[in-house]
Amino acid sequence: MNEASDARAAMSADEVRATLDALRAADLPVHGGRTLAYVYDSGLADADALGLEALAMFAGANGLDPTAFPSLLRMENDLVASAGRILDAPDGFVGSATSGGTESILLAVLAAREGAPHVSDPSMVLPTSAHAAFLKAAKYLGVRAVLVDVDPTTLRADPEAMAAAVDDTTVLVVASAPSYAHGVVDPVPEVAAVASGRGIRCHVDACIGGWVLPHLDHPHPWTFALEGVTSISVDLHKYAYTCKGVSLLLHRNPALRRGHLFASADWPGYTMLNATMQSTRSGGPLAAAWAVTRTIGDAGYARLAGEARQATLAIARGVADIDGLDVLVTPDSTLLALVADGSCDVFTVADEMLARGWFTQPQMAFRDVPPTLHLTLSAATAPSVPDFLEALAQATEAARAAGPVSVDPALAGLVAAIDPTTLDDAGFGRLLGAAGLAGDDGSLALPERMAPVNALLDACPPALREALLLGVLDRLSRPTPS
Ligand SMILES: *Cc1c(COP(=O)(O)O)cnc(C)c1O
Repeated sequence: MNEASDARAAMSADEVRATLDALRAADLPVHGGRTLAYVYDSGLADADALGLEALAMFAGANGLDPTAFPSLLRMENDLVASAGRILDAPDGFVGSATSGGTESILLAVLAAREGAPHVSDPSMVLPTSAHAAFLKAAKYLGVRAVLVDVDPTTLRADPEAMAAAVDDTTVLVVASAPSYAHGVVDPVPEVAAVASGRGIRCHVDACIGGWVLPHLDHPHPWTFALEGVTSISVDLHKYAYTCKGVSLLLHRNPALRRGHLFASADWPGYTMLNATMQSTRSGGPLAAAWAVTRTIGDAGYARLAGEARQATLAIARGVADIDGLDVLVTPDSTLLALVADGSCDVFTVADEMLARGWFTQPQMAFRDVPPTLHLTLSAATAPSVPDFLEALAQATEAARAAGPVSVDPALAGLVAAIDPTTLDDAGFGRLLGAAGLAGDDGSLALPERMAPVNALLDACPPALREALLLGVLDRLSRPTPS
């Protein structure tokens, strides 16, 4: 090879495979039911295999033009029809497939903004428990987020306080079914009534619950059965147990969707025509979702939802017997938030669980809610609930023996003095050094045990935590050194 060139010789297929395997070895497992956030595992190997076949078959097909790839349009319309059926959609409803919950939410906010062109300073009223995707939508789309505290006991949205927050600029009111962080379903009938009473839209974020709750006997209505609900998001890449990259956004009628459709004839290429944010859009995830939902079927999803729900309730009962831990709030669906008493801290429990082969997700303190451990329960975890509880009891015992993690006062002082608005790369580099998180080349070196770092971050006000973590993200996403 030419010495001066940095061209890279092709790898053999076996080398590629071996390298991919080695890379993946450092990841959390996506199967086996021991990763209790990020991934959703049905435990159905045949359904997974069929989804992957469909993914490969349609990976190169492009949803950019529904007339060129009618297969994709058909599968999308089939999926929207299935979702409409379980979400009580009325005649005339419509929906679009997106790349994920965040895109569904961005589009719901966009449609609401575009649907109220007379409002020059649009805003949306959100319970503080709403997913951060709405705050991203606020930032991207210039729709002000008006945050309303949830009820301090139930952690559910407070419809009266939300009603009081609605004003002439409000274009959207939001509820979750359930909230990601705490797993409770908002009082959607009351929230939707607040919206419809004022002629405003109401979006129900059922990204995580939309494919589960319809199969459980949840006592309160939250779907399109409520007149005031104008749109619902539901992620197929969560509890429909399909490959990443598919969510659905449903609207009560076509007029409500109109604001997120895009056309441009004002360039020299083909007339751009998109229902979602993407133009080129792989058919793979959509086809996988179609295949997996067809092969599992309603009865299959009812069984899977029941298993995940039973696992959730069994863990909640088991936690009651573990000294030092409690369930934050009674779960409405298949998500749990666990809280520690003063004898230990959840960050150390998370480290101890990871050491035992279980991933649980730390959540920082927020307003009056202390730090929690988030658990998303999949059907595949159900058979291992006793193992999980045994590991959790041991992990909590170890955390109690160690006592609550403490933050080095010198480091805490250093961090507290940072102005998040002026933290630059050099300042961030010095901080990493002081915190012992700098590798030899100045890059970020994450420690084995995250509890001290998490405790430090937990003590930071949100704006500072954001600035610090943006620094982390920036340092992490740098080209691989040659
Ligand atoms: C996961 C989730 C989202 C965001 O979905 P992504 O697919 O991660 O973009 C939004 N709302 C809720 C309630 C969620 O659980």
